[in-house]
Amino acid sequence: MHDYKSATLCVHAPEAPDGFEALSPPIHRASTVVFDTPSAFKNRASKVYDGYAYGLYGTPSTRVLEDQIAQLEGGTRALILPSGLAAIAVATIASVQSGDTILIPEGFYGPARALIESLLSRFGINALCYRGDGMVELREGHDPTHRVLWVESPGSVTFEVRDVEMMANAARVRGMRVAMDNTWATPLGFQPLRRGIDISMQSLSKYASGHSDVLMGSLAFAGEELYRRSKDVARLLGYGVSGEDCFLVSRGLATMPLRLERSAATAAVLMDRLAGRPEVTRILHPSRSEHPGHEIFVRDYAAGAGIFGVVLRSDLGSGPKFDAAFEALELFKIGASWGGAHSLIAPSDPKAGRGDLDWLPDGPYLRIAVGLEDPEDLAAELFRFLDALTEMPLESIENRDIRSRRKS
Ligand SMILES: *Cc1c(COP(=O)(O)O)cnc(C)c1O
Repeated sequence: MHDYKSATLCVHAPEAPDGFEALSPPIHRASTVVFDTPSAFKNRASKVYDGYAYGLYGTPSTRVLEDQIAQLEGGTRALILPSGLAAIAVATIASVQSGDTILIPEGFYGPARALIESLLSRFGINALCYRGDGMVELREGHDPTHRVLWVESPGSVTFEVRDVEMMANAARVRGMRVAMDNTWATPLGFQPLRRGIDISMQSLSKYASGHSDVLMGSLAFAGEELYRRSKDVARLLGYGVSGEDCFLVSRGLATMPLRLERSAATAAVLMDRLAGRPEVTRILHPSRSEHPGHEIFVRDYAAGAGIFGVVLRSDLGSGPKFDAAFEALELFKIGASWGGAHSLIAPSDPKAGRGDLDWLPDGPYLRIAVGLEDPEDLAAELFRFLDALTEMPLESIENRDIRSRRKS
């Protein structure tokens, strides 16, 4: 195999192993896998990492997608899991034992933080939340129970960019394993395994699948040992993925470079327009020069995602007017997640549960995930939203409340 660029690897899936040739990988469904001889059946456990033993442990659909993800990540192995969160769970459990401590960023993906702090803590595994790049904990307070460092760059909600290579080096010197959630940038923007990270995790539910209708996650590895340990954990937890879902992600990957580029380009247009509005006090995206870690983003990332945050003037956040302004939105749907064709907006409170956001101004916060609609339509709609925030006479809101009460 030549050393192809990412966009090429996204289009060309590895060949399916059953000799059937078509441009898109075939869908395989199976629980039972059958064998030619009794001895092949008896030895089926040897087929868990390569080959086929039971539908849960791999089919041609999952193997082909795993190989494609491994190539995109610059790794030797990948593992497909039923969600991004499942991928975080498997990577974590594969790396720790009772008594170990896991270092996680304060702004870690919320459900993953809860998994480690609330569920794994019941099994004697400790979580230590670090601020910023965690160098305080890594340099000074090192403790031999520190086993795993989770890195998220940019952060999920406020998009701070970290010097990942520096963090990975500091952790490795102390014998820790380093895992990174690379969902935001995808391997098109950043390749963790080439920066000293041991496990690169992605939620494929975002740009990779690309249409807001599949849940899947992946782990990629540079070495066999961690892959096998993680595969064992996934197998023992009973995690499997359907052939149809693999097909949808594989189909999504072919256009991911185009969609990512378009979404990021539209986001850049929207951010520039919003920056000129008096209602907006801050825009959060690694490409903005005032953003935490902007220089690292410019230095280390080949591309970024079309998702950003907006802080509004603090007097605009409360009361029925704020909620009513969302009625100006037709294209932007209110919802979490991102990476699909549809644009989304999510009012959120990034400071809740975090003490590391002193740089973030107070005020209502909106996370905007840019889809594939026309940039002008999206810009016009966000302007209507901001107009509605400031201009809507309170009286009309009261009338509307009365009307809706009458209707019900
Ligand atoms: C969405 C997301 C996840 C979880 O992925 P699911 O596939 O929804 O379970 C993890 N990390 C980040 C940064 C995400 O955006």
